[in-house]
Amino acid sequence: SGDSGNKKEDTLVMATNAEFPPYEYYEGKDVVGIDADIAAAVADELGMKLKIEDMAFDSIIAAVSSGKADIGAAGMTVTKERLKNVDFTDTYATATQVIIVTEDSEIAGPDDLTGKKIGVQLGTTGDIYADDIEDASVERYNKGFEAVQALQQGKIDAVIIDGEPAKEFVKEADGLKILDEAFTEEEYAIAVKKGNDELKDKINDALASLKDSGKLDEIVGKYISS
Ligand code: GLN
Repeated sequence: SGDSGNKKEDTLVMATNAEFPPYEYYEGKDVVGIDADIAAAVADELGMKLKIEDMAFDSIIAAVSSGKADIGAAGMTVTKERLKNVDFTDTYATATQVIIVTEDSEIAGPDDLTGKKIGVQLGTTGDIYADDIEDASVERYNKGFEAVQALQQGKIDAVIIDGEPAKEFVKEADGLKILDEAFTEEEYAIAVKKGNDELKDKINDALASLKDSGKLDEIVGKYISS
């Protein structure tokens, strides 16, 4: 990944934001994680090579809709807003938005977020939820972990972020906890260019066979211990 050059027919270009463990993150110079492995398995089913392009999360939809990338795979939640600009494959994971606070915080659930300073990753569904909270001020970071560090430093009161990266980030940062009461349930899917039914159908077929063969569960199990 990482090198530019001409896009070949047999290459499936995946746009992602590799700041989102366990779905996509760096291990040395390589982007690894659930999405990277699923995309590699899908590419394999399609007889294509996978090329991963790391970019800001809020650039992924534009990369896919402009054709710069063939797919967006980034723990990306299917939303009505995004469906205006891209199509989504069948879903491959469900997720929740959770609240991270300091261990001694008085915030016990979503209702306590009124009027608070809330950190999010720019352009995510967490950003959208935070924006709807009454009198809250929203601090937007390029990386989810930066929001978590700001919380640790006392600059903000809470972080709203997806559940699995939340677990990873809290492991890395002392003095924080994830509240039991989560926000909504969401569904992750792969974004493709609007109207590209050919690619969408192929990916859906590939996803179905990965589900049937148990390969999908195997990939998830490699990164998330249940
Ligand atoms: N699931 C969230 C969203 O789609 C966050 C994804 C991410 O930060 N990679 O907005």
